Amino acid sequence: MKIKSIKSVKSFKKKIVLVRADFDVPLKGNRIVDDTRLKTLIPTVEYLLVKKAKQIVLVGHLGRPNGKVDKKLSLAPVVKYLKKEFKDIDFIKSPDEKSDSKIVVLENIRFFKGEEQNDKKFAKQLSKLADIYVNECFSSSHRNDVSVSAIQNFLPSYAGLHLEKEISSLSLVKDKAKKPLVVIIGGAKIETKLPVINSFLDKAEYILVGGAVANNFMMARGENVGKSLIDKKYLPDAKKILKKFKHKVILPVDYISEKDKILDIGPRTIMLFNGIIKSAKTIIWNGPMGNFEKKKFANGTFKVVEGILNNNKANIVIGGGETGEVLKDQKIKKNVFVSVGGGAMLEFLAGKKLPGLKKIIK
Ligand code: ADP
Ligand code: MG
Repeated sequence: MKIKSIKSVKSFKKKIVLVRADFDVPLKGNRIVDDTRLKTLIPTVEYLLVKKAKQIVLVGHLGRPNGKVDKKLSLAPVVKYLKKEFKDIDFIKSPDEKSDSKIVVLENIRFFKGEEQNDKKFAKQLSKLADIYVNECFSSSHRNDVSVSAIQNFLPSYAGLHLEKEISSLSLVKDKAKKPLVVIIGGAKIETKLPVINSFLDKAEYILVGGAVANNFMMARGENVGKSLIDKKYLPDAKKILKKFKHKVILPVDYISEKDKILDIGPRTIMLFNGIIKSAKTIIWNGPMGNFEKKKFANGTFKVVEGILNNNKANIVIGGGETGEVLKDQKIKKNVFVSVGGGAMLEFLAGKKLPGLKKIIK
């Protein structure tokens, strides 16, 4: 696999570069609560400035306005944030608006109807803004939207610096993992996790399953899970997996529950999981081990996090929406890569071809 990186572009002189950025930050009113995603954009913009690009047009979405203007989801707070980093910056409301500023931010791309329909006409209109396209939004790369996908049919397309890091870090654990490889899957959305579990059944030494995802497997194994969160649709899949791989797929041996619902893994499971984690040379982790938002069900998740982060020998890749939140106050060492992608990371690891990478990986 080869990644077409912006580092392979000979010259950006006189070129206008459209960068698909990750602007989907959590907001409280118009205050940005977490700027992790914005931080991943800065090195690429700095690189393009040093390489003397004529202009940089930043395009991205915020929330789900569904093709209509929604003032609450304006990119104004993002522009304000970027103004602190870069001086000559302008904010335009439509692709037809002209600006001579070095950096131009286009208003929330999901305000435009064509975006999420991957509309060819809109892609063409957008492409007229620039000479080169750069994808710097891994977390949206599984979406078939204009600013991620169709635009690549109209402009030469490259990976931004952070996107390149995402692809190389994830590819390494997906295809060339040092053994033993331990995959830890938790969280709630089993439909997004099953493809990942399936894709690692042959490759991984162990797959540790916690969170609500484990409830499905425990039920498939014949255990009484009471009123726990499960999705019956996936019971046949879970049964099939256990039939062939019951020594590899490791399920909780005890749990913490309330009102007949399993809400966290128990102390024996923590010992079991952390024992396996300790011997791993590669670790992939997605999804909390329990309903960690409530303090009394957070122990399992944080103990397993401790186990993972204490393994200094392993190459570790972590990703996911809530999973990222769990890491907020943790010290992240050099052997750990935290992906900005939730759904995109899961699809990439499961071996799916992402629309946003179609012209970028060869
Ligand atoms: P991520 O976004 O990290 O991929 P998910 O979205 O799949 O993870 O799931 C995260 C959610 O799963 C959390 O909000 C957590 O409370 C919930 N969860 C984990 N374990 C359980 C459980 N046993 N019962 C109910 N909810 C759970
Ligand atoms: Mg989530």
